[in-house]
Amino acid sequence: MTVTVDAQAHQPPTDLVEPRSLTEASEIERWAAEIRRLARDRDAVVLAHNYQRPEIQDVADHTGDSLALSRIAAAADASTIVFCGVHFMAETAKILAPEKTVLIPDARAGCSLADSITADELRAWKAEHPGAVVVSYVNTTAAVKAETDVCCTSSNAVDVVASVPADREVLFLPDQFLGAHVRRETGRENLHVWAGECHVHAGINGAELTARAEADPDADLFVHPECGCATSALYLAGEGAVPREQVHILSTGGMLDAAKNTTKRSVLVATEVGMLHQLQRANPAVDFRPVNERAACGYMKTITPGSLTRALREGRDEVHVDAATAEKARASVQRMIEIGRPGGGE
Ligand code: SF4
Repeated sequence: MTVTVDAQAHQPPTDLVEPRSLTEASEIERWAAEIRRLARDRDAVVLAHNYQRPEIQDVADHTGDSLALSRIAAAADASTIVFCGVHFMAETAKILAPEKTVLIPDARAGCSLADSITADELRAWKAEHPGAVVVSYVNTTAAVKAETDVCCTSSNAVDVVASVPADREVLFLPDQFLGAHVRRETGRENLHVWAGECHVHAGINGAELTARAEADPDADLFVHPECGCATSALYLAGEGAVPREQVHILSTGGMLDAAKNTTKRSVLVATEVGMLHQLQRANPAVDFRPVNERAACGYMKTITPGSLTRALREGRDEVHVDAATAEKARASVQRMIEIGRPGGGE
């Protein structure tokens, strides 16, 4: 089955995104104190994904990538998890911590990549390939995870696919760029890749990457494998345009580790621009620059200081996953954690 995804159709409506963030230091300080008080009163822990607005990242108890945050949610003492990220991430936290109340500050925070395949479409694809093993990236809904044999992150996708016996077909979804990366690394012919994509990462292209790399030939390149430019980065390295050791294909968690250890003065970063805040904090001496400064996820930015305040005051929006779906989805997530080094997903 071939599916064409219209990236434009998956852009969040512009009226979802509240343009104004807090700007004055005193205003941010007052708001942050109020958030901490409300979280204490509600017995809540606040988690923020690396792509959130800077003030949300700074006020959170923990900032990180999707899987790392879900694991923190499961281990937390707090009875309520406030997940500042997109909906599938909050669902994953609920799958791993079913006894806790999970809130997302704005339930409209979706994900174009997770939306690129539904559970019905996956069932139809499976029917075309009976006996195939389904490997899904963590950017999927709970319903799709429930139809999945093993989930994977960008850090362990190659290990997960390599763990499937060579004579079994593999259905890999939903990201075509990560799928291409896995096919290249495993050399596997019987790997079928769903043609999904994230509109933000697909918009970071090879031409921009080439221009930036040529302008700053000594810079390291940090590239998320969901990027349209991941292939270009490897091609540039193969051609000798950029030394192979300067190209790092990394999950967002892997980028943070690499940021702390880099010896370079500048690093070009190919992923959502919210990541730069964490990287700069991890190593202030390095100049981290985006390959595409317009690569901002509108869904992530639906979470605002105002919506986080409302979530804590009013206890909304609560995330529910029905028990049967959660149980099946949990099994595919647990298998992922057992294979290779899963890292943290997006
Ligand atoms: S940046 Fe991440 S959360 Fe936003 S649409 Fe892309 S994959 Fe989904």
